[in-house]
Amino acid sequence: AAIASCRANDEPIEIERGWRDSAIGQDLKRVRNVKPLWSKFGTVVGVALGGLDMWTNQLFGFSFFGTLKHGLTDAQSLEPAAQHKKIDYPKPDGVLTFDRLSSVFLSNTNHEEDQPIHLQVKNPELQRTSELDVFAGPSTRYCPAGVYEWVEKDGKPVFVINAQNCVHCKTCDIKDPNQNINWVPPQGGEGPVYPNM
Ligand code: SF4
Repeated sequence: AAIASCRANDEPIEIERGWRDSAIGQDLKRVRNVKPLWSKFGTVVGVALGGLDMWTNQLFGFSFFGTLKHGLTDAQSLEPAAQHKKIDYPKPDGVLTFDRLSSVFLSNTNHEEDQPIHLQVKNPELQRTSELDVFAGPSTRYCPAGVYEWVEKDGKPVFVINAQNCVHCKTCDIKDPNQNINWVPPQGGEGPVYPNM
């Protein structure tokens, strides 16, 4: 309908202003320095400074630190799997924790079978040599909808993308260690049925 009324080139600039002025935006502004302070000064000093900063923001709308940066992007902060111990996550109990695919089902996400590709892997070989071999396939864990899988085919790992499950959180675009996955908007507003969530 928006396209029919010649609004195809509208830019959603009011969304940015809207969320920043909302209660959520104001809350996030007050806590913006907590993680950068924690990373910079360690747990004891950093958390104490973070507490002080939240109080001055809350009481006076003021921060001694201005707005600190995180230093690294999410993608840059990922370290090779060899530097860490594998985490064995407990299985969902169906009471407080749930498996991803039943949550995707509840989101009522819907895409045409022949949808244009909206999750684009720029360099498939890099995905294998780095995302899998170096970082142990984080996409299989960070994606909340279980879209990405590494499966074995003819003795070789194959990167499978179940694009029809995507809930468009854009995590893959942000977190892929090589910035090798490009999320683009799906066709025609396809995705989760947000009003039902
Ligand atoms: S946008 Fe979110 S839900 Fe979709 S594939 Fe990326 S991480 Fe998964």
